[in-house]
Amino acid sequence: MGENEQKPPIAAIGGGPGEQVNGPAAGNALNGASSPGKVPVDPLAAIVDVLRRGERFLVCSHSRPDGDAVGSMLATGMLLAQMGKRADLVAADRIPNIYRELPGAEGIRIAMRVHGPYDAVIMLECDSVERTRLRGLEPFFIVNIDHHATGQEFGAINWIDRGAASVGELVYRLVRAAGGTVTPEMATCLYTTILTDTGGFCYGGTRPSTFELARELTQAGADPIRIAQEIYFSTATSKLLLLGAALSNLKREGRLAWLWVTHQDMVRTCAAEEDCEGIVNYAVSIAGVEAAAFLRELPEGAIRLSLRSKGRVDVAAIAARLGGGGHENAAGVTLEGTLTRALGEILGELRSNVSRLAYDSGEGRGREAT
Ligand code: AMP
Ligand code: MN
Ligand code: MN
Repeated sequence: MGENEQKPPIAAIGGGPGEQVNGPAAGNALNGASSPGKVPVDPLAAIVDVLRRGERFLVCSHSRPDGDAVGSMLATGMLLAQMGKRADLVAADRIPNIYRELPGAEGIRIAMRVHGPYDAVIMLECDSVERTRLRGLEPFFIVNIDHHATGQEFGAINWIDRGAASVGELVYRLVRAAGGTVTPEMATCLYTTILTDTGGFCYGGTRPSTFELARELTQAGADPIRIAQEIYFSTATSKLLLLGAALSNLKREGRLAWLWVTHQDMVRTCAAEEDCEGIVNYAVSIAGVEAAAFLRELPEGAIRLSLRSKGRVDVAAIAARLGGGGHENAAGVTLEGTLTRALGEILGELRSNVSRLAYDSGEGRGREAT
């Protein structure tokens, strides 16, 4: 997905462009896996070292897991199993139905708190520990592998490559570097990560190397037809009913479009949280729309906001200002308060971004289409 500017590394310089690393936390059993501030450290090599030295690992990703989160966790678990290690895969929220058929998905444990004698926690796709919504992670040696524009160096080792199409792409490199075998099961999981995070090879960040990786994974046994069937042709009826409710609330204003569902809409259509996935894409798909928002009223009174852009509006920056994060073209945040208030807040941000866009391209406000 989106790329972004590079921030300087904290303690040592990582391997390639966009990659960052710092040394392991002081006092941890795995200290020495890299040496902060002295020799430049390749984050990938440092992570392989951690995997080789440790015995027991926790693998987790962000809450409300998507295809990249689930596929990356499963592939990492498979790599660790190949290396003869013990790995617990844990998520704070249930795995969406469309990913339940992925090999090993039944082994992901749903929990709110983690504890155990872990040598390290492999945290995938999270720009903060809080993004996991798991409690009890703080004391552990955290290996942070991410590709978000809003990625942060909160781990003991940080491998943040904003140019990667999915974290699964990074896991693939990890498997290769660790001498693992890409089995058909692993290839299926990794292919799912790039397929879903590139929106079916449609979003910015889809490059020749993305197709190269897709080719390697299909050669290794991923079945693109079967995977697409699971993801795009296994829609729950409740999702289409919810989409109907959202589309009846669709609004358009120049280069902006937005839509929403109330909690009542969710109840009436018997929708699950995962049924909201992708609804925002209908709004950004409109000709002439540059940025779109989807708002969902949560039962506890907060609002879950999804933002999408066609590339000229940086929605990661907007989401970050509101306390969330993501990629330049796909970002999200949860806002406290009512739907009306959240809508006012996000429209304020989006309107000022879009009007700046108009001036940048030499157009006046008065010429903004409706
Ligand atoms: P969504 O609209 O929920 O599909 O999210 C779009 C992108 O933004 C995904 O890459 C998410 O991981 C990221 N994202 C969503 N919510 C947050 C958040 N609160 N903090 C950081 N990143 C987020
Ligand atoms: Mn994700
Ligand atoms: Mn991702």
